[in-house]
Amino acid sequence: MSINIKLPLLRVRKRTSSALSSNMSKVPRTTTTYEPLRKANKIEEETVGLPIPTDDDDDAHFESLYDVKERHAASAWENMRCQLRNACIESLVMDDQPCMECSSEAEMWCQRCGSRAFYCKECWFHCHSKRNIFHTPVWKDDSCWRPVEIGGIKINVLVPHPCESKEEIIIRCLDEDGIEHNVHFMTCKCEPLAISLVRAHLWPASPTNPRYAFCFNLLDWGEALLLECQVSIKGLCEALYYKCPYIVKKRRDVYKCLIDAFEEYRYMKEQLRHLTFLNAQFDEGNVCPACPKAEGNVIISMDALFGLPRKKSSGKSHSEPLSGNRFFCSQNEVDLYVAQNSQTIIEANDCSSFMAGNPMRSASRFHALDETGVLGCACRHEIPLMFLNLKHGERLVYPSFIIEKILHHYPSDVHVTMMYDVACTLQKFLMKKWEVYDSRLSLAIPVFHAYGHKTECQLKFAPIRTNNIGLSDGEVMERLWSFLRRFSRITKEMKPFHRIDVLSSALSYYSYKKRANLYINTMKRLKRAIDGKIKAEQSLSALCTSGNLIDSDIIRMVEESNTIQVQISSNLPRTFFPKLYHIN
Ligand SMILES: [Zn+2]
Ligand SMILES: [Zn+2]
Ligand SMILES: [Zn+2]
Ligand SMILES: [Zn+2]
Ligand SMILES: [Zn+2]
Repeated sequence: MSINIKLPLLRVRKRTSSALSSNMSKVPRTTTTYEPLRKANKIEEETVGLPIPTDDDDDAHFESLYDVKERHAASAWENMRCQLRNACIESLVMDDQPCMECSSEAEMWCQRCGSRAFYCKECWFHCHSKRNIFHTPVWKDDSCWRPVEIGGIKINVLVPHPCESKEEIIIRCLDEDGIEHNVHFMTCKCEPLAISLVRAHLWPASPTNPRYAFCFNLLDWGEALLLECQVSIKGLCEALYYKCPYIVKKRRDVYKCLIDAFEEYRYMKEQLRHLTFLNAQFDEGNVCPACPKAEGNVIISMDALFGLPRKKSSGKSHSEPLSGNRFFCSQNEVDLYVAQNSQTIIEANDCSSFMAGNPMRSASRFHALDETGVLGCACRHEIPLMFLNLKHGERLVYPSFIIEKILHHYPSDVHVTMMYDVACTLQKFLMKKWEVYDSRLSLAIPVFHAYGHKTECQLKFAPIRTNNIGLSDGEVMERLWSFLRRFSRITKEMKPFHRIDVLSSALSYYSYKKRANLYINTMKRLKRAIDGKIKAEQSLSALCTSGNLIDSDIIRMVEESNTIQVQISSNLPRTFFPKLYHIN
């Protein structure tokens, strides 16, 4: 029996092939020596997508290799559960432990130094006074270990210099475990205290005369949890309270002073990642390394996301966004453009079954929102490029703004193919707005959205009928939105520019991940394209044989469909295929 058979899920429809593949992936439940089990890891991928046996199958008592593997893993955990718990309890037993440095009786236990790192008092201070300063030991108190705050930590990062203004002040520092420490910090008037704190990898809660600071490690965790798990600052503070040992007295509410400090810290890290302050030629994650910069065709997808609103009640910003216009266009510029072009109106969209561009989206359901959503674009390599906030529904003036900015951004020898859900209506809008239609621009409809349009639109804008577009499906924005809409839970309650900063960081993170996988993804796409070409040639050859066609017939069929397309575009009376081809 061979189990090395791949059957794509979509093709497994017939009962016969389903039964065949089911049998291939099953082993008897009663088998005691699971020979196939050893191969389970290797073939797991190959069995994914194969049909799952149902109760009405004659052989329902069989189970798939995946089921066998899962059942064995569950059984192994069950067998170990009690022993794991007991080992954990035993590791906490307070028997007499020697100091790991001097072998005298230990009084302190630092779990951050190691699971069995016991110290006498002297050795603990020796090891922690200059390094590991934020380690919090537990103190042996009769029969209990109690967390203890060790005061007297000293930090001096001043460059040695003769100075009469030197003084030692106490800074309260919050570490990544949610524990506060009193630090005796050496400062002088030659340098602002906030700068000295950063030299010690402590981020000040305020820029002037800070008395509270956060460890870099804590803020790094906050950033990772924000970008990958969409944890808000409020959520981070709550998690720190949860993690903090209950015996440590409750610390102050740091939420308010963490908000601005965290944003400033993230901005500093973004600057260090992109180094644009050193060289303005460096990009900030909003430029695709694979798209042509001159003499070529860039394929860009554009779409709107209404799942990223912001409530009017969430307040106003009192400063510009830190991220500038890295991803988001200047809101003043957008508002001005919308006001200037709101008079450009075209006839009602006759692809009426399609929602995008429908004026119903401007209805009153947006009255409680300041920003209703986001419109943006990304290249075919999924690198996010340009975004703007929507203040109404998806009016055509917004995509028009992005298209003009994109055309202005690229040099004149770069052709832009823009894929947009309602390219048909947008083209009418642009033809009315522009005196001369820009020949550098082609419009197309993403492949799955094309089916929502009438035949004329499909003939004119379907990706398969658009030149220089290859196998690009134009659906890159759907994949980007599925990531970005996860932020809506926290961004809808943010101030306007704070929201832009968070969304810009999210886009930068998405861009970073796509760049990291660009080589692998491009190679996968190339392989898929080559395989597809071979299959298409085989299918065409089989079609010609069964229909008794020759190459010239195929060419004529294509030319006839192009003729119809031209007739449709020019509103000429339509001809139909003059010859019927009977395919066996
Ligand atoms: Zn010792
Ligand atoms: Zn330690
Ligand atoms: Zn000084
Ligand atoms: Zn690209
Ligand atoms: Zn259409």
